[in-house]
Amino acid sequence: MKITDIVLFRVSGVWTGPTFPAGNRQARPIDLYPEFNQQSGGTGHQPGDLVHALYLEIQTDAGVSGLFGPIEEWQAFHIHKTLRPFLLSQDPLAIEMLHDQMVRLDRHGRSGLFMTAISAIDIALWDLKGKAWQQPIYRLLGGPTRSAVPAYASMLGFSTAPANAAATAQAYKAQGFTAQKWFFRYGPADGAEGMEQNLAMAQAVREAVGPLYTLMFDAFMGWDVTYASAMVRALEPLHPAWMEEPIPPERVAELRKLREASRVPIATGEHVYTRWQTKELLVGQAVDILQNDPDWTGGITEQVKICALASAFETPVVAHGHSLLPALHVAAAQSPAVVPRVEYLLRYQPGKQFFQTTIYQPENGLVTLPTLPGLGMVLDEGKIEKRVAVSY
Ligand SMILES: [Mg+2]
Repeated sequence: MKITDIVLFRVSGVWTGPTFPAGNRQARPIDLYPEFNQQSGGTGHQPGDLVHALYLEIQTDAGVSGLFGPIEEWQAFHIHKTLRPFLLSQDPLAIEMLHDQMVRLDRHGRSGLFMTAISAIDIALWDLKGKAWQQPIYRLLGGPTRSAVPAYASMLGFSTAPANAAATAQAYKAQGFTAQKWFFRYGPADGAEGMEQNLAMAQAVREAVGPLYTLMFDAFMGWDVTYASAMVRALEPLHPAWMEEPIPPERVAELRKLREASRVPIATGEHVYTRWQTKELLVGQAVDILQNDPDWTGGITEQVKICALASAFETPVVAHGHSLLPALHVAAAQSPAVVPRVEYLLRYQPGKQFFQTTIYQPENGLVTLPTLPGLGMVLDEGKIEKRVAVSY
């Protein structure tokens, strides 16, 4: 079997998915500057909005193909300019070799945006292999280890005003979610008052869900070590299951200091690429929970290697939930000790999966495994009004 083409295409259609009440965005590193700190978050799609998504398809001379998306424009650019010419005429089933060669291909390509392009290709190759062998990907990876994977409710975008957050937390607990993660809006630029508001939200949510419920918090790299140290000490009585990305992940020694500052476990990894960057966090004793996302860290091939590495350090991998399906297939092929659960972004997953026939979502806090060959991702032609080829 040979790869004959790699096609990038943008689909468009009218939003008919759910809408949510206005809420808050999370803290960000750029919020240190007032003109950025004042920016509000998006409101999400409204009925009648025109929405778009970019997909990639790997085509072969055997008729079988691999699909993945939505991807971002920068991934599509690197795929079209560099990875497509490299992959034409190659054997798509030789994923380990192709992955190794892609990682060695570009002098700047071992991290960052180029690695997210490699990730998208790798995932589409696994989709293709699953379709060629008529099996879901988790079966090719040695699973399933279970028939459904627990998903935690990720509350990005909901109002963090304490009363609102408490009511929302109770509502999703009642839906069967056994864990939730809430996002702090404020950071060092917002001073003592911002910290008070962060803590008031955390306190309100803890009271709403009760003392035994699994509760996490996320700062999206928006803090510095001094601020983060004060926050984890103040959060300790609320016994969070983790504090996520208090500072950027390359500050390994500083993350270790934060681990030592309180009993609150430290999580990071969604902006960490490959097993080698991950190793620095593990060897540096800088992390309690890893969160590499197969969509970005190097694909399904790399995520499996990261799980093996992390398991030897007794460190669980709870993947960031960008597009859900790749992380779900890896989770379904790993011991629950290594991958206990996946993330489900309540307000964003309906948009990411909008153009697909099946919207994978938790029922009673559990995502049932796909049974279709490959990823289990099928485009819904009924929602696609326009389909345009993309090249650069
Ligand atoms: Mg996060």
